[in-house]
Amino acid sequence: MTLNTVPPWEDVQNYIDGEWQSPTGDGGRDIVNPATGETLSHVGFSSESDIDTAVEAGQDAFETWSTTAVEERIQPLFELKQLLEAHQDELAEVLVREHGKTRGEASGELRRGIENVEVACGIPSMMQAGHLPNAAPEIDETAVRKPLGVFTAITPFNFPGMIPLWFLPYAVATGNAFILKPSEQDPVVAQRIFELIDQAGFPDGVVQLVHGSVDTVNGLLDHDGIAGASFVGSTPVAKAIYERAAKNGKRVQAQGGAKNHVIVTETANLDFAAQKTVSSALACGGERCLANDNILVEASVYDEFVELVLEEAGSKVVGDGLDDGTDIGALISPEHEERVREFIASGIDEGAELLLDGRDVDVPGYEGGNFLAPTVFGDVDPDMRIAREEIFGPVMGLLPVEGIDEAIDVMNRSDFGNAASLFTGRGSDARKFRHQADVGNVAVNAGTAAPMAFFHFGGRKDSFFGDLHAQGEDMIHFYTDKTIYIERWPDES
Ligand code: NAD
Repeated sequence: MTLNTVPPWEDVQNYIDGEWQSPTGDGGRDIVNPATGETLSHVGFSSESDIDTAVEAGQDAFETWSTTAVEERIQPLFELKQLLEAHQDELAEVLVREHGKTRGEASGELRRGIENVEVACGIPSMMQAGHLPNAAPEIDETAVRKPLGVFTAITPFNFPGMIPLWFLPYAVATGNAFILKPSEQDPVVAQRIFELIDQAGFPDGVVQLVHGSVDTVNGLLDHDGIAGASFVGSTPVAKAIYERAAKNGKRVQAQGGAKNHVIVTETANLDFAAQKTVSSALACGGERCLANDNILVEASVYDEFVELVLEEAGSKVVGDGLDDGTDIGALISPEHEERVREFIASGIDEGAELLLDGRDVDVPGYEGGNFLAPTVFGDVDPDMRIAREEIFGPVMGLLPVEGIDEAIDVMNRSDFGNAASLFTGRGSDARKFRHQADVGNVAVNAGTAAPMAFFHFGGRKDSFFGDLHAQGEDMIHFYTDKTIYIERWPDES
C-alpha cells in the first residue's frame, strides 16, 4: 500500500464506523499549499447527523471494545506503529505540502507522535491501579481503572501529524472509543493516518475521524454520548471549550497558547545557547507552542549574545519545506502571515530595536507563498505586545536583564506558562530557576522543553485549562475512572 502524496488530492473524507464518507454539513474550505498557493484538496464540514452517526457507532463499538482483553486491544496499536514507521516519509511529504514546515520537521513530529503509540502499547502495565491484601481485618482492596465511553480530541494546525497521537493511542488502549476532529487548515495528514488506521485492525467504530470547524466542535461538545474532550489550540478557544465541555458535565483538558522565555546568564556557553535559542524560536517557522521567543540575557553578555543570535538567525534559509536546503518553511496562511507582520510593525511602533528584518524575503519561484524570514528585535521591553503576546512566527526578541532574579520575575509575570529554558554554568541559578519558574515545562541547557511521550505535556496559567495533561500517565487517568473493590471472605472452616 502506498499513500497518495501527489496533489491534487481527492476531497477529504470522514472515517465513520469503518467507512469513508463525505461530510454532509454546510461549509468547507480549500486546503492550500502555503509555499505555493496551489489548492491541494477541499474539506467539507460535518453535519449534526454525521456527528450523531459517529457517536452512536462509537457507543456501539465501546460495548465490545471496553471488555476486549487488553492484550488484544494493543495488537492494532503495534500494527499502527509499524504502519506509521513504514509510511513516515509519505506522511511527512503530505504534511509539508499542506502545512509548509520542512521535511525534517515533519518527519520529526511524526516520530514524536509514534512515540505515543509505543507508550500506549504498555497499557497492560500502565492501567493497573493497585491491590492491597489485608487492607482491613480479613479485607482485601483492589483499585481498577475503567474506560468511560466515547472521547473526542480537537486539534490545531501546527502539528497535524503529532498532536492527534497525544490522545488517540491512549484512548483506545484503555478501552474507549475515540473521535478526532483535526484542524480544517491541514486535515489531509490526519486522513492519511486514518488510511493506516483502517489497515491496523481496529474494530469498526473504535477510532473515527470527523472533519469540520466551530459548529462541528460545538456539536461534539454538546453531544450527550461524548464522555470527554481533549483540546489543543489557541488560548481563547481553549478557555471557551473548557467552559462548554465542563458545563455539559464532560471531562475536559484544554491546552492553549504560549509565550515562552529563555534566560541566558553570563556563565552560559554562549555559542551553544545562541544556537539552541535560535532553533527553538524559529523551528517550524515559529509556529510552535514551545517556541522560546522572549530571550532574557544577563546585561554583562548581552551585546556578545546578540551578535551570536544575529549570526545564527541570519544564516537560516527560507523556502519550500520540500527542498532539502530549507531551514524555515512557509507560514500556514496569508492571513497568518499578515498577523505576524502586524506584530513586527507593533514592535517597531513601540520602540524595540529591529536588528534583523525578515519582511522583504524573496523566495524565487514561490511568489504565491506565505514567507517571512527570521526577524530579531533587541532592547525589547516586557510590556510591549511582542513580549506579551503569542506571535507564532519567525520573530524573536532580546531583553537585557540584571541577573537571574529579574529574569525569573519578568518570566513569571507572563500570562502564559507553557515552557522555559535556562542556559547557565551555575548550579545555583539552575536550582532557583527549577524551583521558581511558574511554567509547566522547564529546561536547563536545552533549547526546547519538549517531554518524551512517557511524561505528561502541558502548561500553566493561560496555557492550560484542566488538570490532567496530554501524553503518558496523565492520559491513562483522563481516560479512565477508578473503582475500588472491597472483598471480605471470612474463614468458614
Ligand atoms: P485554534 O484555536 O484556531 O484551532 C484549534 C482547533 O479548534 C481547530 O480544530 C479548530 O477547528 C477549532 N476551533 C477554532 N475556533 C473555534 C471556536 N471558536 N470554537 C470551537 N472550535 C474552534 O488554534 P490553531 O491556530 O489551529 O493552533 C495554534 C494555537 O495552538 C497556538 O495558540 C498554539 O500555541 C496552540 N498550541 C498549543 C499547544 C499546547 O500544547 N499548549 C500545542 C500546539 C499548539
